[in-house]
Amino acid sequence: MQIPFIDLKTQYLALKSNIDQRIQKVLDSGAYINGPEVLELEKKLAEYTGAKYAIACASGTDALIMPMMALGIKPGDEVITTAFSFVATAETIAFLGAKPVYIDIDKDTYNLNLKELAKAITPKTKGIIPVSLYGQPCEMDEINRLAAEKNLWVLEDAAQSFGASYKHRKSCNLSTAAATSFYPAKPLGCYGDGGAIFTNDETLAKAMKEIRDHGSESRYFHTRLGINGRLDTIQCTILIAKLERYDWEFTQRNRIASRFNENFASLQSKGVTIPVIKSDRQSCWAQYTLSVPDRPRLQKHLTELGIPTAVHYPRTIPDQPWYKENTPVAAEAIPNARWAAEHVISLPLYPDMTDEIQKRITDGVLTAYR
Ligand SMILES: *Cc1c(COP(=O)(O)O)cnc(C)c1O
Repeated sequence: MQIPFIDLKTQYLALKSNIDQRIQKVLDSGAYINGPEVLELEKKLAEYTGAKYAIACASGTDALIMPMMALGIKPGDEVITTAFSFVATAETIAFLGAKPVYIDIDKDTYNLNLKELAKAITPKTKGIIPVSLYGQPCEMDEINRLAAEKNLWVLEDAAQSFGASYKHRKSCNLSTAAATSFYPAKPLGCYGDGGAIFTNDETLAKAMKEIRDHGSESRYFHTRLGINGRLDTIQCTILIAKLERYDWEFTQRNRIASRFNENFASLQSKGVTIPVIKSDRQSCWAQYTLSVPDRPRLQKHLTELGIPTAVHYPRTIPDQPWYKENTPVAAEAIPNARWAAEHVISLPLYPDMTDEIQKRITDGVLTAYR
């Protein structure tokens, strides 16, 4: 039997009557845009993360664009970010005309390296986008300290880390602003594209809300440049329903990841690296990612056993064709990111994974190294 990489169907069946009723209510109401469920979701997201303001929006990509617009980013500005992330992290910087400055990662967490970060700051630097990759926040106190010293903003790319925490504070509430994604495969996903922005800064929140609605302060009165960045009411209801069991899902993801880690600890002698979560934080396990010396062989072995795998990500961002040409990086600047791009492999991990499937996956990996 083929194992799914993520099982969204079982999750839907567990919540079906809740979700169906909420969607039906919106269908009957006709308030498809800006319905009351948008504010209800925003209130719940703020409560969950501890951030003062949560603003629902159309995607994780828009959730990165809108804070940068509100913060006044312009051509010629530099934004420091990791070379090893989903492309949207750097795409949004370049889209706004600014320059992504890529720095290398640490090999244990795949998150940005703080020494490199300090070195990359120039008079043109306006902000830092740390990415909480695979669900684990970066060393945020140190990043915030560096930023405060140089008067920079920090925008957490929390697309993969909703629910994670750092020193008992939730991801999305760790910096000037944060962006998360509700793409279906993310830890908290809706049934289409979606995202949210978080901040504790009232002025910034007001600006981002206006930008989300074509830069309008009130109806047909446009005081700034904006976009259509709204999240549909129906998607909000799905997220409200899913939030009700999110704590259980978070615990499940952590349980399964611990089980994988215990099973794979013995493979370290074979050159396999298991995920490392720092003791002062909790991951929400958006991905369970190993690095292995022989990725194509392991992938083939697992495929034959009906176990799908994925590679997050097969190239660093500055090694992507458009980025290579338009946002190049010094040849020797990102050795760890390039190493990761060649060696990482993600295994299926989702809250509803049965014990039997967990065992098939661990057995599948272990037999590859027997
Ligand atoms: C998914 C993702 C995004 C983009 O989110 P979308 O909702 O797909 O626009 C941005 N950054 C990271 C790290 C992501 O994983």
